[in-house]
Amino acid sequence: MSLHVIGPYEHSAPFPDREDKEKLIGQRGMCIWMTGLSGSGKTTIGNALARMLHEAGHLTQVLDGDIIRQGICRDLGFSEDDRAENIRRTAEVSRLFVHAGIITICCFISPTKALRRMAKEIIGAEDFLEIFINTPFEVCEQRDVKGLYRKARAGAIKDFTGLDAPFEAPDVDFVDITTVGNTAEGCAVKILHAISRRGPIR
Ligand code: ADP
Repeated sequence: MSLHVIGPYEHSAPFPDREDKEKLIGQRGMCIWMTGLSGSGKTTIGNALARMLHEAGHLTQVLDGDIIRQGICRDLGFSEDDRAENIRRTAEVSRLFVHAGIITICCFISPTKALRRMAKEIIGAEDFLEIFINTPFEVCEQRDVKGLYRKARAGAIKDFTGLDAPFEAPDVDFVDITTVGNTAEGCAVKILHAISRRGPIR
């Protein structure tokens, strides 16, 4: 499958448009895109971040790989094409949320630079903040939250990211969040700071 991205929607409602919606809820929509190995902490930190933003009066939506794969992407597997389609659909959904003014927190392994570039192109660079949840493979394997590392080591899961499928760390234009030696809340606060450095969300 090609990673070709189509242009803007041909039909967009003239009123209420994005600006009207953002004015109504008093915030600017954006996508916080979390990338990292399985078990690195994307969902835990994403949920902590959503809680903090909510308590500060912001409307948020967390999109998580597991939830998306149970619903809108339940027909997809983990082949290269299916991973790309999973991210493409997720990015399109995120874009809808962002254009409704919602702070959308995406928690997806999204292991390659090409996949994350596609997400960024669909959502729009000005609305996209890439966060690398930076946890070493050995630590993720030790945590083994869902028992996936054990299964992958036993050969029950093929193409497991970090083991027999690649993970490409971001190298430009991203926020590095090291989880070892920090709490999920501490990591979420660092992301809050990164968000506010980009400009006001109200
Ligand atoms: P992912 O969504 O990346 O697959 P999860 O959030 O499901 O990862 O799991 C991360 C695990 O690591 C959780 O059990 C969490 O409690 C633990 N953990 C330990 N330290 C941290 C930290 N600083 N940030 C996030 N998670 C952490």
